[in-house]
Amino acid sequence: MPDAVPPQIRQQLADPFAELTGSLAGTRKLRFEVVDNGQLSPSMQQITLTAPELAGFTYAPGQDVMLLVAAEGSRPVRRRYTIRHLDQENLILTLNIVLHGQGPGERWLRSAVPGDTIEGIGPRGKITTSPSADWHLFMGDESAMPAILHMTESLPAQAKAAVVIEVPEPADEQPILAEAVSRASWLHRLGRPAGDPDLLAAEAREVELAPGVGQAYLFGEAAVVLRLREILESKGIRPDQMSPKSYWGRGRANAGHGEPAK
Ligand SMILES: Cc1cc2nc3c(=O)[nH]c(=O)nc-3n(C[C@H](O)[C@H](O)[C@H](O)COP(=O)(O)OP(=O)(O)OC[C@H]3O[C@@H](n4cnc5c(N)ncnc54)[C@H](O)[C@@H]3O)c2cc1C
Repeated sequence: MPDAVPPQIRQQLADPFAELTGSLAGTRKLRFEVVDNGQLSPSMQQITLTAPELAGFTYAPGQDVMLLVAAEGSRPVRRRYTIRHLDQENLILTLNIVLHGQGPGERWLRSAVPGDTIEGIGPRGKITTSPSADWHLFMGDESAMPAILHMTESLPAQAKAAVVIEVPEPADEQPILAEAVSRASWLHRLGRPAGDPDLLAAEAREVELAPGVGQAYLFGEAAVVLRLREILESKGIRPDQMSPKSYWGRGRANAGHGEPAK
């Protein structure tokens, strides 16, 4: 039962998150054990984890857990993954993680087998669905699929939501079960590199916005998220109507705290 970072190394880390204070107040350490790890689609792995601390654990759809996937010298390397599902009764948390090629998160994911252990911290993240919005627009790549699917599933049936998700190929699409979703567009890269803004940007320029005051949730590669913000702003969406979050940066590893380096 190997741990992603063995306890003797963990004790020696210069860990900025050793104390769960400040922005981490309200989170808890989760001593996860891998329950299952299997491929969901050509580019997506589904991993299920259990931890005793999941008893009484609460979170809002869209929030994530931060996993201690490796250590580089004395520096902890954490990666963040959105909670796709929590089975409170059986204490099983599900993550869907993109198989993109390389990186400490990817390496841990590919090697994880039932019984392996890994430290987590959660729940993290400030972006959840806006209860007052007249409509909701979700845009992102496959790394945003867990957030987009879980957030839309949490909306009331009478809410109005549109989703635009870019995936590598049609086989990476997942069922959209949310009653609130009246329009879903799947964009297929078909060999284009991930993080190329063209497909999502073209869709953002074309998207018809419903009347009223809505909220746009924009998740994925940092430069693509920025481009989507600019396009939607040019269509009259105010900055406070947008919930953007950079999940990863094209051509560069995320920082040790799990977000693209500034
Ligand atoms: C709040 C939050 C929630 C997130 N939720 C999820 C989630 O539910 N599922 C999920 O899969 N990801 C999610 N991510 C994104 C994930 O944390 C990043 O993709 C992260 O970079 C993966 O770490 P890594 O160690 O595998 O790669 P890194 O070491 O960070 O990067 C190595 C290389 O891989 C490239 N790369 C990284 N991610 C991708 C990608 N998605 N596609 C193509 N190339 C990539 C980088 O450009 C770099 O060249 C989330 C991120 C945040 C901040």
